Amino acid sequence: MAVAKKKLVLTYVDSLRTDMLQRAIAEERAPTFGALLERGVLIPDCVSSFPSVTPVACSEMVTGVGSDRHWISGMNWYHRLERRYVEYGSSLDATRAFGVFRALYDLVYNMNLAHLSPEIETLFERLDDAGARTACTPFLIYRGRHRHEVSLDGLLRRAVDATRLKFQHHTWGPTDLFYGDLYASRDVPCKSTSIPGVRDEYAACCGAELIKEDLFDFLLLSLPDNDNYSHKHGPEASVESIAKADGCFATFLEAAGGLDAFLEQHALILVADHGQTAVHRGLPLAELLGQQWSVLQPSDDRPELAQLAVSPSGRAAHVYLLPGEGERADAAAVGERLTEIEGVDLVCRLLDSNGQPLRRLEPGMPAAGGEWAVVERRGDALRFRPGEDVADLRDGRWEIEGELAALEAVVEDGRLRSATYPDPLARVWSALTAPHSGDFVVSLEPGFEAVDWGGVTHAGGGSHGALHAGDSLGPLLFVGCGPRSADERAQWTLRDVAPAVLEHFGLDHE
Ligand SMILES: [Zn+2]
Repeated sequence: MAVAKKKLVLTYVDSLRTDMLQRAIAEERAPTFGALLERGVLIPDCVSSFPSVTPVACSEMVTGVGSDRHWISGMNWYHRLERRYVEYGSSLDATRAFGVFRALYDLVYNMNLAHLSPEIETLFERLDDAGARTACTPFLIYRGRHRHEVSLDGLLRRAVDATRLKFQHHTWGPTDLFYGDLYASRDVPCKSTSIPGVRDEYAACCGAELIKEDLFDFLLLSLPDNDNYSHKHGPEASVESIAKADGCFATFLEAAGGLDAFLEQHALILVADHGQTAVHRGLPLAELLGQQWSVLQPSDDRPELAQLAVSPSGRAAHVYLLPGEGERADAAAVGERLTEIEGVDLVCRLLDSNGQPLRRLEPGMPAAGGEWAVVERRGDALRFRPGEDVADLRDGRWEIEGELAALEAVVEDGRLRSATYPDPLARVWSALTAPHSGDFVVSLEPGFEAVDWGGVTHAGGGSHGALHAGDSLGPLLFVGCGPRSADERAQWTLRDVAPAVLEHFGLDHE
């Protein structure tokens, strides 16, 4: 039985930036978050995953490992065995391009039960096994030990009914699972919805019902609406959506008798999955590469003929070299073209131990070992692999060769750091060595966003996904748990969240 003096609530505000949180507090628009900040330890620059998009970041948050181990590589990625794209819903139009049923099936079942690595355990699984009562409001990664029946309602039901196909499986989640139109483990007087903009209310309402009856030891409370608002109006306008999240969180606290009564019985972690930066231009990567090579289309009848697959993921993208029947794309030529495209900032790829480009035709890493990762930026290239030359800020050790300028990095006292690209080596390595990684992972320049397969960008608003600090940094706040001071580590990342939760319950990570 997991023992903790206090219950724990892990709450995340999608796309929350520390500066915007502080502005909302200064303008007296977020009094509840402000009161929490006064009582806790704030890490203002917790580093997200790469790509810094919600499916990858949330997986990292609840598993404590990177995509090399949890296997969720982006908002969209190419499945080498199934020879198709996986799309988790970059936009409604992107979902339509792949077919609503297939996209929903990937989101509803496959993400947790097929794509998320079976070799690692989520927080819910660990805590369920330890006898704790777990609960979760709508959150992408919810895999746990309890069986839940899928109950499609509302919009999603209509969308799926129109396809005349059926969702017949059950899923596995925490003790209590609420997922809007998809699942609800108990009857709650909360209006379920999948419409962005009113999801915070639903999550807070479900959380309030649970806390009133003392039904959890661990609750993941999601506040996702800030993301949509920032995409639409730009992150600089997000005081509005932060104020709304604050209000919803206050409703949840009221059900526990207010902040002080809540904190007597609960510890709290407040975290953002990633940041967000202003974007003004869409980058049609598939279209540009399609001028030279045949690029796999969303519903391609003959996937075996395509030379490349392109998976936009916000301000990052994966590009895959396909084993097609016809002429294969030349790896060096594709790499060169990528570095020339306006708006592409970093081109990342793996080389074999002899420095030759790797072509990955199977999921998983080639077995040879000794591979290098290389990052190219404006003519500078830095290659690196696990080794002994330098340490990073988290005590990872690396062998490096080439130009530090490629990552705007410096080495001081044997430690590599970059203000522009936080925790760059570990994040790029994890992204590239993940089983579903592209042969190339690109990170875009500030202001650019990759056009998704529905033709949609948030140009004029905001986005995220890049290795860049603006997309990657967000607040991590501990109240009643976690470190005594933010200085306990030189750099905090989302990979630190799951171990902190487990430690609170007296459990080890791994
Ligand atoms: Zn987003």
